[in-house]
Amino acid sequence: MDEKNVPIRTYQVCNVMEPSQSNWLRTDWIPRSGAQRIYVEIKFTLRDCNSLPGVTGTCKETFNLYYYESNNDREHYIRESNFLKIDTVAADESFTQVDIGDRIMKLNTEVRDVKVTTRKGFYLAFQDVGACIALVSVRVFYKTCPLTVRNLATFPDTNTGADTSSLVEVRGSCVNQSEEREEPKMYCGADGEWLVPIGGCVCNLGYEEKSGACQACKVGFNRAVSTDGACSKCPPHSHSEKEGATVCDCNQGYYRSESDPASMPCTQPPSAPQQLISEVNETSVVLEWSAPLKLGGRSDISYSVDCLLCHGPENVLFSPQQSGLRATRVCVSELQAHTRYTFTILARNGVSQGHSAGAGQSVSVTLTTNQAAPSPVTSIQAGDVTRHGVSLAWQQPDRPNGVILEYEVKYYEKDQKESSYRIMKTASRSADITGLSPLTVYLFQVRARTAAGYGEFSGPLEFSTNSDPLPLIGDAANSTLLLLSISGGVILLLISAAVFIISRRRGKYSQAKQDSEEEKHLNPGVRIYVDPFTYEDPDQAVHEFAKEIDASNIHIEKVIGIGEFGEVCSGRLRLQGKREIYVAIKSLKAAYSDKQRRDFLSEASIMGQFDHPNIIRLEGVVTRCKPVMIITEYMENGSLDTFLRKHDGQFTVIQLVGMLRGIASGMKYLSDMSYVHRDLAARNILVNSNLVCKVSDFGLSRVLQEDPENAYTTRIPIRWTSPEAIAYRKFTPSSDTWSYGVVMWEVMSYGERPYWDMSNQDVIKAIDEGYRLPPPMDCPVCLHQLMLDCWQTERTHRPSFTQILNMLDKLIRNPTTTLRRTGGDRPVSSLLEPVAGPEFVSVWSAEDCLQAIGMGMYRDTLTTAGYTSPDSLLTLTHQ
Ligand code: AMP
Repeated sequence: MDEKNVPIRTYQVCNVMEPSQSNWLRTDWIPRSGAQRIYVEIKFTLRDCNSLPGVTGTCKETFNLYYYESNNDREHYIRESNFLKIDTVAADESFTQVDIGDRIMKLNTEVRDVKVTTRKGFYLAFQDVGACIALVSVRVFYKTCPLTVRNLATFPDTNTGADTSSLVEVRGSCVNQSEEREEPKMYCGADGEWLVPIGGCVCNLGYEEKSGACQACKVGFNRAVSTDGACSKCPPHSHSEKEGATVCDCNQGYYRSESDPASMPCTQPPSAPQQLISEVNETSVVLEWSAPLKLGGRSDISYSVDCLLCHGPENVLFSPQQSGLRATRVCVSELQAHTRYTFTILARNGVSQGHSAGAGQSVSVTLTTNQAAPSPVTSIQAGDVTRHGVSLAWQQPDRPNGVILEYEVKYYEKDQKESSYRIMKTASRSADITGLSPLTVYLFQVRARTAAGYGEFSGPLEFSTNSDPLPLIGDAANSTLLLLSISGGVILLLISAAVFIISRRRGKYSQAKQDSEEEKHLNPGVRIYVDPFTYEDPDQAVHEFAKEIDASNIHIEKVIGIGEFGEVCSGRLRLQGKREIYVAIKSLKAAYSDKQRRDFLSEASIMGQFDHPNIIRLEGVVTRCKPVMIITEYMENGSLDTFLRKHDGQFTVIQLVGMLRGIASGMKYLSDMSYVHRDLAARNILVNSNLVCKVSDFGLSRVLQEDPENAYTTRIPIRWTSPEAIAYRKFTPSSDTWSYGVVMWEVMSYGERPYWDMSNQDVIKAIDEGYRLPPPMDCPVCLHQLMLDCWQTERTHRPSFTQILNMLDKLIRNPTTTLRRTGGDRPVSSLLEPVAGPEFVSVWSAEDCLQAIGMGMYRDTLTTAGYTSPDSLLTLTHQ
């Protein structure tokens, strides 16, 4: 019976009276099941030898425990000697008979352990050597370290090692939704305790550690790389829609830049910069603005400047830079002068890329840069050097800031510094400087001029003239110039005399010949001018009288003036099979009405009907592509009034009369064609390089006709217009004659304004009261008389252009007698003296000389007779 009085079965032996006992009890085969060390717990009772009466020295109080390893689970007989002893087991407690009588069991429990590693199982055996003993129970077991999770790694149930001190190394495996941070390891100790955990695992993104496992983050939470440990709530302006979110997506309209950490709130691009102010300084602009109202929740704002019309970044300078600006200010320089620009300031931050709301984030300003003088000419180079001259060439300034109208070359002897210098002007980028002293050091400087004025002079170029004594071309030219300038007066005197003689000798016939030569222009019966406004379709009119030119044949070079409808440029025209010629190009400005186009082209339709050396020649029109253009011959010296003002006092009376004759000849042609000009004035006469004057500007007749009211008050050129035309719009060839008289006065006074600064009303009044312009200084009386004839109040008393022409021819033929007396106070001798001589005489051919004094019609006769150069004209004798 056990303590609870439950009967138990035991193995007993009690051979205490007999010596040399060896009684064996053996277990069945016990499988090892992977265990390496087994534990044997034995419960037994043992009788105290002393309590046994009559027992001698044979009684024992111990027994032996053995084991035997074997793969065989059914061994029948194992020799005792094959068993290995584990231990001799003694009782801690023993009992006596009395104890039994009291039914007090004194049960001993002893545990022994042993390594079993060689076979699949083992047998245990107990040897009694003469004790009184009862074996109550034997429990055999082994120890394991139980399955566990440590640092998010699972360690399996592991048998302890074979030795009592051995540690079994075990590798853990990461729990679900986690990954190794460092190899997880632990040691299983002999006692079945886990020891020394190393390494471990971490939860995957979107998961967090909870009770040794990885759990998905809840909706509205996330766990990203940068966040350690637990899931965190989505940052402002972001959200997550599913469990296990690794990142919170930005709400609509909010963004995250690539470098923004996931824990940062989502942000927005900035709003537009505010209060953009610009300050223009010539060709630079300073732009300043304030920061945007909304920075979008970020601090990495920067600005960039966009420039409409900036021609490539290399041309324009942005200071400190064009983009990535941190400050709210930028200076833009090296812009083109007098040009409209639109600048846009864009605000951006880390999330602007691809999310820019376009115009919403920018602010613009449109401005016009100021006029600015051209930048200095920098590259002057000297070419041929002679004793008396040098040829220079240079490049256009880096920043012309407009169309270069001319260059000015300033030069002086180095020794004399700038105390005395000379200036030469030229439209091209080169100049031949002559008239220098041999073997002398000169300094040359060049500057450019545009409508905005002169730029700065270049740095001086130093150069020494040659000592070479050989006669050079320049020298020869110089001597010719000298010769011509000295004898200029004599030449002209002789020419006039010769012409006079020739004409006298040829008598009536030559007069008739002259008339018939001009007849093709004069005969009123032959052609009559057709008013283009009688055509319903203005294009039909223009194509009737003007040739259509393909724009690709025109090469525009520079702007030379501003006309009523747009710019006037000079350039070159090359037509198939023809020599390239210089032309003037009038263009119709971009935005035009039908009426403006019609008015603009009407000038071409009118001009195209004329063919005369003193009427500006129309080359053609461009109407089939834009801009619409009118192409005419190029008149190098521009309009007569400016030209004369520029050369005040530099011409002989003969030269001036020559110009007047040309104009009269053109006007006669027009009146013969029944065309009334209505706006004859020096400003509407153009002058070419040979000083030939041609009538131009055929626009006004139309305006006056169309809109008499308007014309009457604002458009009518009062100072040039006859009283009857002003009073009741009676425009006739005679009213053109009146205007011609005023042109004569303008020419003889070198471009003075008729009636000076009197008001239009005063002019009308004065004329009505009989007042007429007085003779300009040095004006021969007969010329002033001709003016007064043109200004007869009664229009029928005014001379016709045929008469005017004859009259001028007469004057030219007899210069010494007719042009001698002047109304002004310049000495008589100056009439025939060229004041600025060489410039206008030296470069002329014999033909130019004749043309300039209005005797071009004798050219052929004189050429046939061998008079081909101005020098040869010198040799003409009286006969
Ligand atoms: P217009 O519209 O004809 O008054 O021309 C305006 C300005 O352009 C004139 O005052 C001239 O200076 C210049 N211009 C016009 N036509 C020519 C031309 N054929 N040759 C040279 N300059 C011209």
